[in-house]
Amino acid sequence: MLQCAQIHPIFNIEETKVPNPRKPLRLNVGFLVSAAAGYHRDFDFYLPKLTDEEDQTLTLAEVQGRVRISRTPQGLLVEGTFEGDIQLECVRCLSEYTQHLRWEFTELYAFTRDNITDSGLLVPEDAHIDLQPLVRDFGLLEIPIKPLCKSDCKGLCPECGQNLNLQNCGHAPENDSPFSTLKDWL
Ligand SMILES: [Zn+2]
Ligand SMILES: [Zn+2]
Repeated sequence: MLQCAQIHPIFNIEETKVPNPRKPLRLNVGFLVSAAAGYHRDFDFYLPKLTDEEDQTLTLAEVQGRVRISRTPQGLLVEGTFEGDIQLECVRCLSEYTQHLRWEFTELYAFTRDNITDSGLLVPEDAHIDLQPLVRDFGLLEIPIKPLCKSDCKGLCPECGQNLNLQNCGHAPENDSPFSTLKDWL
């Protein structure tokens, strides 16, 4: 394994260059299929934008990462480590902000149906695999269920709608106080 890394220390652009810029993560893995088990190769990626044609709102930006593809007896093991940014809306103050995401994944592209995993990935006959759906889908899994622009976001004033991160309108503390009901009585 160490030997392989020494022979091919870096991403070989010639071998993976593809004419279709819409599929920047499509790789020719033919040389890995014909390699001996145990062989691996690392691929580095940088993508200014990773968009889904169906849902343009979920665009990952500044995506960078590394994929290691290893030849195993059962298929090609793909291990990816990525990071990137996405624009989200804060659930408290409703403003748009940039959320940084990091994600990892491991998937096997099986040679035959006998070795197929739950993900159902097979090495296609033309030996070209497009990692875009994998990279994207695993990235989107990292989106927080309740996105917050910052952990201590003060949110909006329930009375006048003022963004309390920017300015204090003076309404909120009184409304939130447990004594506000008591004060009404007095
Ligand atoms: Zn916020
Ligand atoms: Zn207010």
